[in-house]
Amino acid sequence: MNTLIGRGIWAGLTALALALSSGVSMAAEGIYGLAIHGGAGTLTRENLPAETEAAIRETLNDALYAGHRLLAGGGDSLSAVIAAVTVLEDSPLFNAGKGAVYTWEATHELDASLMDGRDLSAGAVASVRNVRNPIRLARRVMEDSPHVMLVGEGAELFAREVGEELVENSWFDTDFRLQQLHKAKQAADPSAMLNPLELGNKFGTVGAVALDKNGNLAAATSTGGTTAKRWGRVGDSPIIGAGTYADNNSCAVSATGHGEHFIRHAVAHDICARLAYQDTSLVAAAEYVIMEKLAAVGGEGGVISIDREGNIALPFNTEGMYRGYRLGAASPVVLIFKEE
Ligand code: ASP
Repeated sequence: MNTLIGRGIWAGLTALALALSSGVSMAAEGIYGLAIHGGAGTLTRENLPAETEAAIRETLNDALYAGHRLLAGGGDSLSAVIAAVTVLEDSPLFNAGKGAVYTWEATHELDASLMDGRDLSAGAVASVRNVRNPIRLARRVMEDSPHVMLVGEGAELFAREVGEELVENSWFDTDFRLQQLHKAKQAADPSAMLNPLELGNKFGTVGAVALDKNGNLAAATSTGGTTAKRWGRVGDSPIIGAGTYADNNSCAVSATGHGEHFIRHAVAHDICARLAYQDTSLVAAAEYVIMEKLAAVGGEGGVISIDREGNIALPFNTEGMYRGYRLGAASPVVLIFKEE
């Protein structure tokens, strides 16, 4: 199964649960579930070593488990997406938190955002250098400040004030990403650096979307941005409406890909708006924006999305996207390549 997981499966599961569990309807308990991503790019079986693939699948499973455990226990979708993204930020395998890519100056600048579909409250941070888990700081911005977005030194100062864990910038170092920086700097065409899916920097931004038992949606995204970025470049990941959006009236979306295109097309909000204003489905809306609108302008990448009925759409216009989902009591599903 590739991009779309619709109500058919859900209806089947509900019927199964009814048959097996003396009449406890999953729908009565509340549909819940989540989807995650670990970035999109030129992912083929040939260019992904088996060991790395296994480690990535394991970490994606851990992230699904962390979010699903909370949802299954009646927890809220916001906590679930933060739990899932924190697992991915703490892994050196992804371009977020530990494992973030390098800037041109060989430092790390991290971006993250989240949104609560209950009331459209949102929090975001950009260009932070010393915050171990930017997604947690985004939550503090949302809950403990009157603002939506804080950047750079001000965000660090706020992190200190609210007691978020701080680390040296070198804590985010990994050899793998350093090699990517060297390669990027040798590239003939500096403008290619704007595309995070080129120059070996092909994947790694992380995100999660969730629906809890109370019908609430949330989305979260975290990234190190693009390899060899300069001049305080910030992509779509911390931009509400571009890389992240959640509204209980439509859906929750987290994006990954060539950020400049995702900002211009307000991708996450566009998908939710189509659902809100048109007589369409999540699957059709997400597919249209990624496979047609973005693809037409060379905007490479993908999204994960979930609506309040538990439909999930995971379209991407690249070779692959690290992704996974888990609905209700069903087993977790983790996917990497286009054909699987
Ligand atoms: N969207 C991210 C950015 O442009 C990069 C990515 O998703 O890989 O910063």
